[in-house]
Order: sequence, then C-alpha cells, then structure tokens
Amino acid sequence: MLKFSKKRPRLIVIFILTVIISGSILTYLSISHISNYRELLEKKISEEERELANSFAVGFQHNLDSLTMKLSTCVENSTSRSLKYLNKIDGENGLIDYVVIDSTGSYLIPNFINGDESFIQSNSAPIFSSKLRNAENNEFILKDYKSAATLYLLTLKIAKTTYDSVLVHNSLGRLYLKMNLQQKAFGAYQTMLLKYSSILNSSKFPYAYFSVIKLIKMSDSSNVESLERLLVHFLNGLANGSIPLNESTLEVLDLINVWQHKFLKTPNNIQFEELIKFNKNTTLQLNQYKTPIDKILKDEYIEFSKEQTIDYLPIKPTSGSTEEIMLFYRNKIYSFGFIIGLKQLFAMTLQSQQMNDLKFDYTIKLVEKTGNSLLLNSNLITLTEFSILFEDCFIQVSLKNENIIDETVFKRKIIYGIGLFLFLGIMLFGLYLLIQNVNREKQLNKLRADFVSNVTHELKTPLTSIHMFAEALNLNKEKLDSKQTKYTNIIVKESEKLKRMIDNILEFSKKENNILSYKLESSNLTTIVKSTLEEMSYFLEMSHFEVSASIENNVVANVNPEGIKLALSNLISNAIKYASSNKKLNIKLYRNESEIFIEVEDFGIGIAKEDLELIFEKFYRVNSSENETKSGTGLGLTVSKDIINKQQGKLLVKSELGTGSTFTIILQTT
Ligand code: ADP
Repeated sequence: MLKFSKKRPRLIVIFILTVIISGSILTYLSISHISNYRELLEKKISEEERELANSFAVGFQHNLDSLTMKLSTCVENSTSRSLKYLNKIDGENGLIDYVVIDSTGSYLIPNFINGDESFIQSNSAPIFSSKLRNAENNEFILKDYKSAATLYLLTLKIAKTTYDSVLVHNSLGRLYLKMNLQQKAFGAYQTMLLKYSSILNSSKFPYAYFSVIKLIKMSDSSNVESLERLLVHFLNGLANGSIPLNESTLEVLDLINVWQHKFLKTPNNIQFEELIKFNKNTTLQLNQYKTPIDKILKDEYIEFSKEQTIDYLPIKPTSGSTEEIMLFYRNKIYSFGFIIGLKQLFAMTLQSQQMNDLKFDYTIKLVEKTGNSLLLNSNLITLTEFSILFEDCFIQVSLKNENIIDETVFKRKIIYGIGLFLFLGIMLFGLYLLIQNVNREKQLNKLRADFVSNVTHELKTPLTSIHMFAEALNLNKEKLDSKQTKYTNIIVKESEKLKRMIDNILEFSKKENNILSYKLESSNLTTIVKSTLEEMSYFLEMSHFEVSASIENNVVANVNPEGIKLALSNLISNAIKYASSNKKLNIKLYRNESEIFIEVEDFGIGIAKEDLELIFEKFYRVNSSENETKSGTGLGLTVSKDIINKQQGKLLVKSELGTGSTFTIILQTT
C-alpha cells in the first residue's frame, strides 16, 4: 500500500484527487446516462412503432382504395348485360370471391337457387302428361310395377323436353327400386345425374341432388368405382356452376363425405376430399352473406342509403369473422358482392412496408379488439385501428426481439464499464509513473543533499583550522605589524562568513534529510545577541553601517544558542547585503511576560508584498533589479525560520519596498 507522508509532493495528492473526482464524475454520468438511455430507447421505440403503425394504416388504405377502384370500374362496366369484365378482377390481390345477382334477385355467380321460391314449370305436351299420369296410376294405385315400367318407358319415348325426360327417369329409378332392380335403378339415376344435372324439379330442387342421394343409398362395394366417377361429376358440376348450389348442398356434401370415408382409400380420395371442401367452402361463404344480401335486396337494409361516402355497402359475415368483409354494390341490372380478405390485404401492405430506416426491428400483427387491448398499449406494444372497414381489428406493432432494450442497455453498460476501467487504469498507471518519478527525484535530491553535505562538511574542517590559526595569530597582535593585524583580522572574519554559509548549507541538508534536531539549553540571549553583533561588527563597519542596539540584560531562555546565533547572523548579514544608501541597523532584544523578541530592523531596499510569503521558501530569491548584483543561495531565511520554528518560536517579517524591513524572532520565555 502506498503511504504518503507529509513530505510527499502535493502533486501526487492533487493527481489522486483528480483521479477520484473525475472517476466519480464519470461513473455518476455513466450511471445517470444509462438510466436515461433506457428511457430514451423506450421513447424511441414507441415513436417508431407509432410511425410504423400510421404508415401501415396509410398503406393499407391505399391498397384497399386501389382495389375498390378496380371493383367500381368492374361494376360500372358490367351494367350492360355482359359480365365479361369480371375476368379482369379474377385473381385480384385481396379479393377472395364475389357474388353476382341479377335484377330478379337470382344468384348468377355462384349458381345458387333458393328452394323456397315458386317455379314455373315448363309446359309438357298433353299427351305426355296423360301417359305419365297413366304410368303413375299403375305404380301408385294399381301397384302393377311391371306395367308401370313399360308405361314409363313408353312415356320417355314421347318426352320432348329435358324436364319431361328427367321426370320419367326419376320415376323409373324410384320404380326399379321398388321392384328391387338395383342395377336398373342405378342406371336411371346415373342418367339423371349425367344428362340432366342442372334440371330443377317443381320446388326448384335440382334432380342431380336426388340422384346423388339415391345413388349413395344404393352404394355397396360392387359399385364403388362407378359411383366415385358419378360423384366426381356431381362435385365438379357444383364447383363449375353447372349444378346449382342450394340450401341442401351442405347436407348432400356431408353424405358424400361419409361415403368417401367408407369406400375410398387414400390417396384416391385426396382430390375427392378437396372437391368436397371447395364446394363446402363456397356454400358456407355464401351462407355468411346470404341473409344480409336478401335483406338489402328486399330494401330492408336501411343503412345502405345512409352510406353517402362510399358507393358500396360493407357487409359483415354472419359468422362474426373479422377476417373478411363483403363490399356490396347494388345496381339496376346486376348487384355485386365482393368478398375482401383482410389477411391478403394485410400481407400485401406488409410486403410494401418500408422498415429499413428504423433503429429496431418490429413485427406487425393483426389482432382482434378485446377488452384488454388498451392495457397492452403501455407495454411497448402499439395497437392502432387502421381501417373503418375492419373496425374490429387492430394492427399490433411490437419489437421483434423483446429483450432488445435490455441487450442494448447491457452493451452500453459494458462499453461504459470498459471506458471507465481504461480511464481509471490509465490514471492509475499515470499515478504509478508519477510516484516512481517523484521517488527517483527524491532519491536524487537525497544524493545531491548528501553530496552537498559531505562537501560542505569536508570544507568545514580546513576552514575551522584557518579560522583557528588566524585567531591564534590575532592573539599575538603585538608581534604583528598593522598590515599583518589587518590581514589576519580579514582572514578571521571572512572565514567566519564562510563558516556561516557552510553552516546554512549543512543545516539545510540536515533538514532535507529529516535529521534536524536541536538540543535546547537554558541560555542567556543577551550574551548571544551581543556576541553575534560583535562577530558581525566587522562587516557592519566595512559597509559603513550605523548600528543602534537596545539589548535588555539577562534575558534567559531555553534555546539552542548555536541555532539562534546562526539565524540572527543570517538576518544581520541580509540587512548588510540588501542595504540601500540609508545604512542603518537597529537591533533590539526585549521581552514581555511570555515572549522574547529579537528585532533586526534595516532601512534597505525592502521586500515587495507579494514576495513576503515566498522569501522563506528554499532557494527563493527576489527577482528585482536591485537584487541582481547581490549573490546568495536563497537558503538563509529558510534555515533561519526552520531553526526558530524547531525551538517553538516564530520568525516574522514586516517590510515595505524602498523603505526597509524588520525581521523579528519571537521565542517563548521559560
Ligand atoms: P539569500 O540572501 O542568500 O538570497 P535568503 O534566504 O537569506 O537568501 O533571503 C531570500 C531573499 O529575501 C533574498 O534573496 C532577498 O531578496 C530577500 N531578503 C532577505 N532579507 C532581506 C532584507 N533584509 N531586505 C531586503 N530583502 C531581503
């Protein structure tokens, strides 16, 4: 773990704070951005869904409009007695089927006959009618089946119309069954079906239906193949309209279905089954719309006249299915009912829908309106009505991948996480490099300080000898001439000055290596101040200083005398160095109850306000023109302040540029 002592450069702390603050800001921003991001995504999805739903509704309406245009054209062009134009819309996309009804209300397409309607029989020749009655008399009253058979056959010969012929064949079939002549009966019904399939009886019931019912009743394993052929003929007839559909078609188809399950084996009956299914569907589909159409035709459908905006009347199927609707066009000659398939129109619209420029993938579905539809709207699923014709349905637009929001947010989280991780990693790496650099710097500083301390230490020894010997010479002043005395004096003072400089450097390197300690002892400050002034008097005199001293007697304090001496001589030496023309120096030593003051006041160049704080910094030297010529190390005040601080004292300065400075050492009394 990194341990930062007080001495660690502030840069590291600043850097760490920067890392922590910017890391926290980035984390906070990322988290808040991610939570906003989810909201933004949801908003975007809702917008896109709405957009898509609207454009789908427009597309759907467009397809519907173009279809109804074609249908209207077809209706307009079919007002003459031809229905040829219908071919053009056959296979039109979205159109499932259509019905055409003539002016009498009869169904032309598909061929459907209402059995309950009265029917005008074609007039038979009187001779045919009397012969037929005779044969029927034999069959029903006399029960002479043989004669009846002969008479029916004779009647058949004089039959002029298909209606007459089918009537006789029907009678013959019935009679042969009574006579138990299965094969002959089969033949009679077969002829009825093959030759007279579209002929209707007096109740408008097609004879083909009779024959099919009878033939199925006669069916056994021996006539499967021929019956299959006949039934296929019947089913094809229904499908192509040559045999009409009617109210009984479904029942007859059910009979045929039962028969085919009993007698036909797959795969034979696949085609057979399909034919049944086709006819069943056509009939069922028609049944969906027959009742409302009948009402319209009888003018009971009041709403028809209300519809002003469209030229057709929408008819919903009676089954309640929402997947199709009939557009009914009433016309003087023909009326048309076009069955429109919602699914087909939907698929067509979906195909032309542009989804490319969307951010996400969506699914568009058709859903029926239900009670909880509105609830779903909130769950990032958009439900919209899209057509008044299909008002019971909504289109539902929803995300293809429901988890896309979670996935996108997760991806974003990962990206942010990696980004943050990288950022912090780089920052930490930077911090590591910085610490390494600082440590290296510190090591170098230590080496430098050690070097300086060693060198100065080495210098101090010969200097002490020089000082000592010069002082020894000075002691025997009487043996020296005046010049020699002067020189030895210079040697003593200059070596003292040099010693002070060396002491400053040594103190400083001790401080840098954190090994500065002062032994405090009860000392007489009066003596210390006086002796320091005495030592400095040589330099003061040399610089022509006028010194005024006010030194209180017997001021004693618990201090380190060497330290105080060094600090004081530094202050006096500065007063000399930074003097102006006014070379005055006031030294004071005084005390109050708790504190002792040593004041060094000069009237030199003074110090600017902005420099006052800085002059105690190591190596700091005021950068001014007056200072340019003065040499120095920038260590004197640093060392002095340190010495005083270590003795629970203070070193204060008051100064004004151009006026002078006062440095005050404040010490605690014992
Ligand atoms: P040095 O004197 O070696 O430059 P110091 O630490 O003793 O270093 O002083 C720092 C700076 O403070 C000096 O360079 C000087 O500009 C300014 N200074 C110190 N004492 C005085 C003073 N008595 N008058 C004017 N300036 C001073």
